[in-house]
Amino acid sequence: MTAEKGTNRAIRKENRNRIFRYICKNGRSSNPLIADALKMSLPTVLQNTRELQEAGFLYDAGVLDSTGGRKAKTVNVVADYRCSVGIDITRNHIVMVLTNLIGANVDRERVYVPFRDEEEYYRNMQQILKAFTDRNHLEQEKILGVGVSIPGIVNKRTNRIDRSHVLGLEDYPLEKMASYIPYKTWFMNDANAGAFAEGFHASEGDHFFYLSLNNTVGGCFYDRKELLEGDHFRSGEVGHMILIPDGKRCYCGRKGCSDPYCSARRLAELEENNLERFFEKLSASRSREVKRWQEYVHNVAHLIHNIHMMLDCDVIIGGYVGSAMGDYIEDIRKEVRALDLFDQDASYIRPCVFKISESAFGAALYEMEKFLAQI
Ligand SMILES: [Zn+2]
Repeated sequence: MTAEKGTNRAIRKENRNRIFRYICKNGRSSNPLIADALKMSLPTVLQNTRELQEAGFLYDAGVLDSTGGRKAKTVNVVADYRCSVGIDITRNHIVMVLTNLIGANVDRERVYVPFRDEEEYYRNMQQILKAFTDRNHLEQEKILGVGVSIPGIVNKRTNRIDRSHVLGLEDYPLEKMASYIPYKTWFMNDANAGAFAEGFHASEGDHFFYLSLNNTVGGCFYDRKELLEGDHFRSGEVGHMILIPDGKRCYCGRKGCSDPYCSARRLAELEENNLERFFEKLSASRSREVKRWQEYVHNVAHLIHNIHMMLDCDVIIGGYVGSAMGDYIEDIRKEVRALDLFDQDASYIRPCVFKISESAFGAALYEMEKFLAQI
């Protein structure tokens, strides 16, 4: 093949992919609408939507009502052409989600099963997965596989968990868990998975830092559909950046890490680990909660400021705190604004879009993204 032919083929493939992703994101669309939005010629769009429809990725979605002229035919995505399952393993729960080509929340299940590195636990997980796939009547050939999110450092080179403080694991072989999952299986760190979920619906070329404020603090830099994982898969471990030298003791054994100041537990511990109740009492202006929130905002603002000075990009606040804080994000923005050298506002601090089970969704969507990339 000549270089020119190769380039033309690459351009055609890219056009087809952009058209398909546009419909995935926007739903029912007409050819003129797509051509206009993507600045492509109408014949190019027509040819691609016809091919995608012939391949089974799109279906005829009727005509658009119009106020005169010819009515435009529309197409939409066959969303269940492929699906994937995400499992989030936490200290006390197994969360399962089912998603499809458009990244929808098709089904979700959260079961109380405290993690134990024992046969009984894995058998239990296997049964929950079977019940979950059975109730959704999934056809085997449509399932891309199962993504598992783990609160720990997932080493893709050795296929092991280097360490998970939450699960009490060290140098754990991932095939042990995978052997109980009867599908193609892949593993991800929970904060990385959360970042991936946020990125799935982001625009082309988007990049951001995802700050996960869960019971532990983590993060990940997301850049145009890729995660920056680092040389040892520890990139973005901002929970162990020193925030206060010689400060509070962190679970890692050192002092002054951001984790003991910025984790969701710092708030929820006032209400028997119920974060929603914390925010309810905060909105009722209870003095104990107000005081703790001010202290928390002060510390999180410094953490975000440091991240922003380093990366100069949007910071998405995720995890339990990002999901529960609602308009209280303004308090954080205000405090960061006062620290910032350059920015007039702190609108680069964004709330997460995924409010529940983001790590399970991100893990599921990881392979879905690879599938979409080759359409
Ligand atoms: Zn630490």
